[in-house]
Amino acid sequence: MQPYLYDSPTFRMACQQFDMVAEFMNIPEMARNRLKMPKRALAVSVPIRMDNGSTQVFMGYRVQHHLTLGPTKGGIRFHPEVTIGEVAALAMWMSWKCALVGLPYGGAKGGVTCDPKSLSLSELERLTRRYTQELIPVIGPQVDIPAPDVGTNEQVMAWIMDTYSLQIGHAVPGVVTGKPVLLGGSLGRREATGRGLAYLVSRTMDTLGMQAEGATAVIQGYGNVGSVAAISMAKQGIKIIAVSDAFGGIYNPKGLDLNKLNDHVAVSRSVVGFSEAEPITNEQLLLLPCDILVPAALERQITEGNAAKLNCRILAEGANGPTTPEADAILAQRSDIFVIPDILCNSGGVIVSYFEWVQDLQSFFWSEGEVLDKLFRLLEQAYMQTLNHARKHQISMRFAALSLGIKRVYDAKVVRGLYP
Ligand code: NAD
Repeated sequence: MQPYLYDSPTFRMACQQFDMVAEFMNIPEMARNRLKMPKRALAVSVPIRMDNGSTQVFMGYRVQHHLTLGPTKGGIRFHPEVTIGEVAALAMWMSWKCALVGLPYGGAKGGVTCDPKSLSLSELERLTRRYTQELIPVIGPQVDIPAPDVGTNEQVMAWIMDTYSLQIGHAVPGVVTGKPVLLGGSLGRREATGRGLAYLVSRTMDTLGMQAEGATAVIQGYGNVGSVAAISMAKQGIKIIAVSDAFGGIYNPKGLDLNKLNDHVAVSRSVVGFSEAEPITNEQLLLLPCDILVPAALERQITEGNAAKLNCRILAEGANGPTTPEADAILAQRSDIFVIPDILCNSGGVIVSYFEWVQDLQSFFWSEGEVLDKLFRLLEQAYMQTLNHARKHQISMRFAALSLGIKRVYDAKVVRGLYP
């Protein structure tokens, strides 16, 4: 089957990963396209009245990858480079991620091709509400539950919840996760991805016999995931020596003062220009000598061009799809780098999204301690399963994580059968 609708570098990359794992797992040829191809995709044009009185039309997408294990789940991205192919790849990865950590969901993803930084707050609200309106036939607490991703946040989730609820006629908090706690959001959701990442880094340091105290970390992408990962790792005693965002990076080998940096970012909306560090490009940042390298921005950052030159001991993938298959092949030859693959490393976000959805359905809310306790238990289980699987079959952590996730979806499809 030709996936021409989705053809893009990121979708090709997700398919390439799937094909390699399916081959390794001996999944029958006939089952492969059924597992790989997204079940549904919706493309919508989203017309918005701009503040200057003109009308602008944006393209929006939602892709639901499989419906075998429950409703679909996945974030919504507002970014100038969003394409349906990228969204489809991210939806596929969500499927394997949810299955790996044992959540009753298929994967989904959505996005609008726009630059949210260039929109006023009211333009952003109109864009979000109109996009949500277009998605109403395919989303809902039992159907497909969006969440934040690059360029979206709690406020955007609140507008989605409000728009959907107005159509239904009563408040439906379970239609979206990552919303404000006031509206039925979960304590600990905003920090869950970064905190989960830091937990897995700490477990990996145990595995490798490394000490957190005095270890160094470099983070590409100082947004929700990257900034919380920085704070959480710093609490463990790890020194954050460089961070970056879309505008550039900063470096201080003595360690960045994160409180001062966050004050700077709150005012200038970027890490660039922070006075207690020197500037560095995103390309240079990835090659800095450090113990932990965290890509937490976009896909395809670690490539065949830089994989051989990485200078870290642990590669903790906060972003989805930051490492290309070509780079993976190089990393597989480098026993000096331990990879915590994306579908494991950033799964804390969807795990706490699942907790939020469960709390909303029951209208019964948990303390932050309960949320974190349950989060770390699920992460521990997924980490140990992946590590043991990798060791048993002499495969990479990524291969192990993907094969565990894909196997669960495959097994579920076999048991449910093919209708009619
Ligand atoms: P965000 O919008 O909060 O932050 C993204 C950050 O990356 C921003 O600082 C942005 O300036 C920076 N960035 C963008 N392009 C860059 C580039 N070329 N070089 C360096 N930095 C760049 O988004 P987020 O929610 O933190 O998501 C980051 C990554 O984590 C994405 O891959 C996302 O899919 C993944 N992720 C997010 C969550 C979540 O809960 N938010 C969960 C799982 C995975």
